[in-house]
Amino acid sequence: MQAEREKNQFAEDRERLSRQLIRLGDMIGDGLHLEPDGKWISKEYRRVAKALGYELGKRPRRNNGDAINQRMAERVNEVRCQKCGGSLKQTRSGSLQAKCESCGAQCQLLKSVRRKATGG
Ligand SMILES: [Zn+2]
Repeated sequence: MQAEREKNQFAEDRERLSRQLIRLGDMIGDGLHLEPDGKWISKEYRRVAKALGYELGKRPRRNNGDAINQRMAERVNEVRCQKCGGSLKQTRSGSLQAKCESCGAQCQLLKSVRRKATGG
Protein backbone atom coordinates (compact mmCIF):
# COMPACT_ATOMS: atom_id res chain seq x y z
CA MET A 1 0.00 0.00 0.00
CA GLN A 2 1.86 3.01 -1.31
CA ALA A 3 -0.47 5.54 0.27
CA GLU A 4 -0.19 3.88 3.65
CA ARG A 5 3.57 4.01 3.50
CA GLU A 6 3.53 7.65 2.59
CA LYS A 7 1.25 8.32 5.50
CA ASN A 8 3.63 6.58 7.88
CA GLN A 9 6.54 8.47 6.44
CA PHE A 10 4.66 11.69 7.00
CA ALA A 11 3.86 10.75 10.59
CA GLU A 12 7.49 9.90 11.23
CA ASP A 13 8.61 13.21 9.80
CA ARG A 14 6.15 15.03 11.99
CA GLU A 15 7.28 13.19 15.07
CA ARG A 16 10.90 13.90 14.30
CA LEU A 17 10.15 17.56 13.69
CA SER A 18 8.05 17.79 16.85
CA ARG A 19 10.89 16.40 18.93
CA GLN A 20 13.28 18.80 17.26
CA LEU A 21 10.95 21.69 18.00
CA ILE A 22 10.71 20.71 21.66
CA ARG A 23 14.48 20.48 21.91
CA LEU A 24 14.91 23.85 20.25
CA GLY A 25 12.21 25.25 22.52
CA ASP A 26 14.16 24.01 25.53
CA MET A 27 17.31 25.66 24.24
CA ILE A 28 15.43 28.90 23.70
CA GLY A 29 14.02 28.54 27.20
CA ASP A 30 17.58 28.32 28.46
CA GLY A 31 18.46 31.43 26.51
CA LEU A 32 21.01 29.68 24.31
CA HIS A 33 19.62 31.42 21.22
CA LEU A 34 20.71 34.74 22.74
CA GLU A 35 24.32 33.68 22.77
CA PRO A 36 26.57 34.84 19.93
CA ASP A 37 26.69 31.40 18.35
CA GLY A 38 23.06 30.61 19.04
CA LYS A 39 21.35 32.55 16.28
CA TRP A 40 20.71 29.39 14.32
CA ILE A 41 18.46 28.12 17.13
CA SER A 42 15.68 30.65 16.68
CA LYS A 43 16.02 30.41 12.91
CA GLU A 44 15.75 26.64 13.07
CA TYR A 45 12.87 26.88 15.53
CA ARG A 46 10.90 29.04 13.13
CA ARG A 47 11.72 26.78 10.22
CA VAL A 48 10.63 23.64 12.04
CA ALA A 49 7.52 25.27 13.45
CA LYS A 50 6.59 26.38 9.96
CA ALA A 51 7.21 22.91 8.57
CA LEU A 52 4.83 21.57 11.20
CA GLY A 53 2.28 24.15 10.19
CA TYR A 54 2.27 25.93 13.53
CA GLU A 55 1.17 29.50 13.50
CA LEU A 56 3.76 31.56 15.22
CA GLY A 57 1.76 34.67 14.71
CA LYS A 58 3.22 37.95 13.70
CA ARG A 59 6.22 38.56 15.82
CA PRO A 60 8.54 41.50 15.85
CA ARG A 61 11.74 40.81 14.01
CA ARG A 62 13.74 40.93 17.21
CA ASN A 63 13.02 38.10 19.56
CA ASN A 64 13.85 39.23 23.06
CA GLY A 65 13.48 35.84 24.59
CA ASP A 66 9.78 35.54 25.26
CA ALA A 67 10.32 32.22 26.97
CA ILE A 68 12.84 33.73 29.36
CA ASN A 69 10.61 36.68 30.13
CA GLN A 70 7.75 34.36 30.86
CA ARG A 71 9.82 32.21 33.19
CA MET A 72 11.33 35.28 34.81
CA ALA A 73 7.86 36.70 35.42
CA GLU A 74 7.05 33.54 37.34
CA ARG A 75 10.34 33.56 39.24
CA VAL A 76 10.11 37.17 40.42
CA ASN A 77 6.76 36.30 41.93
CA GLU A 78 8.20 33.29 43.74
CA VAL A 79 11.54 34.68 44.86
CA ARG A 80 12.28 37.57 47.18
CA CYS A 81 15.45 39.54 47.59
CA GLN A 82 17.90 37.52 49.64
CA LYS A 83 19.24 40.62 51.35
CA CYS A 84 16.15 42.54 52.32
CA GLY A 85 13.20 40.43 51.24
CA GLY A 86 12.05 43.08 48.82
CA SER A 87 10.39 42.28 45.54
CA LEU A 88 12.53 41.55 42.53
CA LYS A 89 12.25 42.80 39.01
CA GLN A 90 13.81 41.51 35.83
CA THR A 91 16.72 43.80 34.99
CA ARG A 92 15.88 43.93 31.31
CA SER A 93 13.93 42.01 28.74
CA GLY A 94 15.53 38.69 27.94
CA SER A 95 17.75 38.82 31.01
CA LEU A 96 18.15 36.02 33.50
CA GLN A 97 18.95 38.52 36.20
CA ALA A 98 16.65 40.32 38.55
CA LYS A 99 17.18 43.38 40.65
CA CYS A 100 15.70 44.17 44.03
CA GLU A 101 13.41 47.15 43.85
CA SER A 102 14.25 48.14 47.42
CA CYS A 103 18.01 47.70 47.84
CA GLY A 104 19.14 47.19 44.27
CA ALA A 105 20.79 43.83 44.92
CA GLN A 106 21.03 41.70 41.82
CA CYS A 107 20.62 37.99 41.59
CA GLN A 108 20.30 35.45 38.86
CA LEU A 109 16.92 33.79 38.93
CA LEU A 110 17.36 31.46 36.01
CA LYS A 111 20.33 29.51 34.89
CA SER A 112 21.37 29.14 31.34
CA VAL A 113 22.10 25.46 31.56
CA ARG A 114 23.21 23.45 28.63
CA ARG A 115 21.35 20.21 28.76
CA LYS A 116 23.59 17.23 28.69
CA ALA A 117 22.58 14.45 26.43
CA THR A 118 21.61 11.54 28.59
CA GLY A 119 22.50 8.09 27.49
CA GLY A 120 22.48 7.18 23.79
ZN1 LIG B 1 16.77 43.86 48.47
